[in-house]
Amino acid sequence: MPVGTLASVKGVSQDILDELGVQILLGNTYHLYLRPGVDQVRTLGGLHRFMSWSRAILTDSGGFQVFSLSDLRKVSEEGVTFRSHLDGSSHFFSPESATEAQIGLGADIIMAFDECTEYPADSQRTRNSMEMTLRWAERSKKYFEEHKHEVPWGNDHVAPDAIVRGGAAETDELRSSESTWNGHTQALFGIVQGGMDLALRKESAERTIEIGFPGYAIGGLSVGEPRALTREVVEATLEYLPKDKPRYLMGVGTPEEIIEYANLGVDMMDCVLPTRAARHGLLFTSEGKISIKQARYASDGGPLDPKCGCRTCARYSRAYLRHLYASNEILAQILNTIHNLSFYLDTMQSVRHSIGLDHGELGKGARFLSGEQSQLKP
Ligand SMILES: [Zn+2]
Repeated sequence: MPVGTLASVKGVSQDILDELGVQILLGNTYHLYLRPGVDQVRTLGGLHRFMSWSRAILTDSGGFQVFSLSDLRKVSEEGVTFRSHLDGSSHFFSPESATEAQIGLGADIIMAFDECTEYPADSQRTRNSMEMTLRWAERSKKYFEEHKHEVPWGNDHVAPDAIVRGGAAETDELRSSESTWNGHTQALFGIVQGGMDLALRKESAERTIEIGFPGYAIGGLSVGEPRALTREVVEATLEYLPKDKPRYLMGVGTPEEIIEYANLGVDMMDCVLPTRAARHGLLFTSEGKISIKQARYASDGGPLDPKCGCRTCARYSRAYLRHLYASNEILAQILNTIHNLSFYLDTMQSVRHSIGLDHGELGKGARFLSGEQSQLKP
């Protein structure tokens, strides 16, 4: 899932995201809540209509940003008081208000409000934090069940539970068919915490499953721990998450990591890396990572990645991309982001294709690859 923090994947317009075959975007509740505000988005028909994006959207609960971005946060059983990083104004997120905000934004998949346990944390602190996340998960679900019909959608919206059931690749298909909207609601996912403690991860997974959600996320990773530890925790946690529900690993990773985690059984991932790195001139290619700002590319007339079919690689040379970056042209960020997103999406398509082959048939991802995506190659 490319990250579109403020209802925008920085530098890339929605028509290009369509063309790239993006099936689902992530929006950040914390940012959208502060600006433009939930009521504003709700009044305008929800995020899909507001940003003119007809495919799926997932919003996070706001918890992670509250813990990583805001100042003077104060955590209590009730929720978190924090100050806006924009203007210092004081705000409060609870499981109820974070869920209310996400219902108002109207994404297809929304997340239970959790506490992202810091790293490192001692075992008592990790347990206390995990226990609170479990209580917050129950409160998030209760609020959701009581208010889930308050979504700002009209009749044109595809049921998110149909997306979860059928895979995002079917979204357009579903959207074009009649009778997809039939009182359907968003899908609220639970989040497993438990720090780096494998026993607590198991307990968190089992007790989150007891509460019952249509999908489960592994949270609290990529918070500064060594990569080998991330992998160990992911592998250990996956063992306890149902295979017939989406399993979402939050906040990873490099192209190598997303292949690795997909192979372990992760279904969904999000990361700012492809888009953020692109804006800093770091490009992922079939030949490895390239820093386009380097002088060695100034007279390199070849394509950025000879194996990539994206519109950047099809049209522009490394020398031109290097020149744009060195000159601080806006176009550098746009073209770089398009390529990195394309590289990530191609990587995941290959993963889906090989999963389809492993199952002796072309899976949904592979069907998508052979259909829509083939029209995109210039
Ligand atoms: Zn490319």
